[in-house]
Amino acid sequence: MSDKLLRPGVVTGEGYKTLVNAAKAGGYALPAVNVVGTNSINAVMEAAAKANSDIIIQLSNSGGAFYAGAGMADSFKAKVLGSVAAAQHAHLLAEHYGICVAMHTDHANRELIPWIEALLDEGEKYYEQHGKPLFSSHMLDLSADPIDFNLSECARILERMAKIDMSLEIELGVTGGEEDGVGSEFDEAEDNSKLYTQPEDVLRAYNLLNPIGHFSVAASFGNVHGVYKPGNVKLRPEILRNSQSLVQKTHGTGDNPLHLVFHGGSGSEKAKITEAVGYGVFKMNIDTDTQFAFSEPVGKFVNENPKAFLYQVDPDDGTPYKKFYDPRKYLRAGEQGVVARLQEACNDLGSKGRSVAGA
Ligand SMILES: [Zn+2]
Repeated sequence: MSDKLLRPGVVTGEGYKTLVNAAKAGGYALPAVNVVGTNSINAVMEAAAKANSDIIIQLSNSGGAFYAGAGMADSFKAKVLGSVAAAQHAHLLAEHYGICVAMHTDHANRELIPWIEALLDEGEKYYEQHGKPLFSSHMLDLSADPIDFNLSECARILERMAKIDMSLEIELGVTGGEEDGVGSEFDEAEDNSKLYTQPEDVLRAYNLLNPIGHFSVAASFGNVHGVYKPGNVKLRPEILRNSQSLVQKTHGTGDNPLHLVFHGGSGSEKAKITEAVGYGVFKMNIDTDTQFAFSEPVGKFVNENPKAFLYQVDPDDGTPYKKFYDPRKYLRAGEQGVVARLQEACNDLGSKGRSVAGA
């Protein structure tokens, strides 16, 4: 027997737990990549297949809306339907890439709770038909609200999710910066002590949520969304270790009882990533870096073929430019940029070559 534990495709419920446990036991984490359409989803699955790594695909609320179409009149409906469409796309295709994919939604603050509840309506319908949910997990980020509200809402939503074998990601402490309109501008000059999660809060969350269902914690250890000038972001992964120790001591669990998530992974130092993974981080979000990885080669392609983006046929020598302005040309360049950037992420996180998908 090898460590090939799961069938390839979208994993949920026990499969998702297996994926999380395999990463923690194996000392690696999975990249969680934000997507906005079929181009980005396919690029992420291609990257995972190439790296022989499992992967987490996630949508922000605006990523979901974009997936449905930025021109759709009802923007709430677009957030819901676009997210559902992305999950269905992955359910259909992921298994053919031969790796395991967890489908997830990113930051939902207080205003976005109705988005999550609408996705759970869809998830419950899907569960009735297929015996599994549409998404592996959702995130509720109520870190801007008082902790009592944060935890009681998370408990209420997790009760519902547990019934359809879903996992919940919560946020304690504040990840600096902003992710698609959720969060606040990160001030590089400010004293950022609020960016560090308190272990006592993590213990409270564990006490309340662990009896209800499977959950993970986005804990803040100085991480920020976006990429800033080197030196302005001070990561302190030992904060994660302190939370793990407190829960372990209080409940007499094994090592690293908490499933931790690293937000704002773009631009982070490799040594800090490795340290965080050692403290039970199984998921690292990456968005800013893959956005740039998509756009940079598109820009290069346009710069190298400027006339093809001005004329269908060269006005001077009559050269036809169809082969260059065909959107597949530059979109493919973008996809390849993402595939390359994610090879690096899988290397940094140690997930390369570690897919648990068997035949
Ligand atoms: Zn985040």
